[in-house]
Amino acid sequence: MKVVVVGAGIAGLVAAWELARHGGIDVTVLEAERRPGGVIVTEQVDGFVVEGGPDGFLAGELELPELAHELGIGERVVNQRARGTAVWTGTALEPIEEGRAAQLLGIEATGAEVKAGFRSFANGMGEPVAALAQRLAGTLCFGQEVAGLVRQGSGWRVAITGGPAHDADGIVLALPAYAAGRLLESVGVADARVLAQVPYAASITVSLAYRTAQIGNRLDGAGFVVDANVVGAQHAAPLHLRACTYSSSKFPGRAPDGHVLLRAYLAPMNGDPAQTAHAGLAKVVGIRGEPLWSRVFHWNRGLPRYGARHAEHVAEVRQRLSRLPRLAIAGAGYDGAGVSACVRSGREAARLIARAMAR
Ligand SMILES: Cc1cc2nc3c(=O)[nH]c(=O)nc-3n(C[C@H](O)[C@H](O)[C@H](O)COP(=O)(O)OP(=O)(O)OC[C@H]3O[C@@H](n4cnc5c(N)ncnc54)[C@H](O)[C@@H]3O)c2cc1C
Repeated sequence: MKVVVVGAGIAGLVAAWELARHGGIDVTVLEAERRPGGVIVTEQVDGFVVEGGPDGFLAGELELPELAHELGIGERVVNQRARGTAVWTGTALEPIEEGRAAQLLGIEATGAEVKAGFRSFANGMGEPVAALAQRLAGTLCFGQEVAGLVRQGSGWRVAITGGPAHDADGIVLALPAYAAGRLLESVGVADARVLAQVPYAASITVSLAYRTAQIGNRLDGAGFVVDANVVGAQHAAPLHLRACTYSSSKFPGRAPDGHVLLRAYLAPMNGDPAQTAHAGLAKVVGIRGEPLWSRVFHWNRGLPRYGARHAEHVAEVRQRLSRLPRLAIAGAGYDGAGVSACVRSGREAARLIARAMAR
């Protein structure tokens, strides 16, 4: 029995891991890009650990520690060090309740969940991705953009842009909802249009490295958010700056001694995001001189924003899929956008397919 997992983001990798552990199932993962991880991107730069996408997960969530344990990297989980968030009022940083700060950033979590803090990995969120990719090495195929699905008897034919097709007895679509929705519409799942229409918010993250001596003000806590009333106001320099994480204070090992790593979140903008982030941060935390370097990540379609009837729509689509041969959906577009929710979703999709295979 052969299962094709489409997408090697965290949801697809976990689905493949879960299927491979079942035994008796031949798993292939097809990924359009040339690297695994999807939105999870960690880069090691001159002793700094730079996160392009997620930088942690809620301490109360057990999915990643459990996965890390299975992968033999359980001891690599690290706890948040600096705690507390401030709000930039346009003229000063003032303490703000952490739950409220999370809400302003669109993090789906209760105040109590946020109070327990965040966790990550010693080498960043890319660590479980690298461990999964290593374990799944023989099953991962990069540069394979899935262009279409065709039903073939009791299974599927998976068409690849500019390459030979793959035949499969089962499929896990671990793609952003807009990409999965398009593929499902093409196989006649009319309700899948609602998936294709799930909006994904654009954002930009900019990591900037400084010498500690360049930072004029004391960096209290783990970072700050910018008051929504300040955004766009004339007197506020950080026009596009929405928030900043003091990465080297938040988690251990993010910058070499004597250095500071900051990560700014910007609203979509034209112009130079690194320059804009530096100018905003210089004003808020009193930076002298230029950054040693900066790294910009553009997320044109980053985090999904669920509408009021999202859960209902997803349940309807899944109901339709249950009438097709062994086809499951997984990932941030459906049951929660956080990394832990994606791990859960990947496992559940794999178990659904494995159960259907056993019938
Ligand atoms: C800036 C940012 C910060 C975040 N911060 C946090 C955080 O701190 N904590 C947290 O818990 N969550 C955070 N999140 C959310 C979380 O990181 C993501 O929701 C999650 O990683 C998504 O995983 P996924 O596997 O569902 O999808 P993706 O990572 O999007 O993976 C999907 C994969 O499918 C591939 N693909 C797409 N189309 C095709 C195709 N046609 N054929 C083959 N492959 C295809 C893509 O290349 C990609 O690799 C953040 C997200 C963003 C954008």
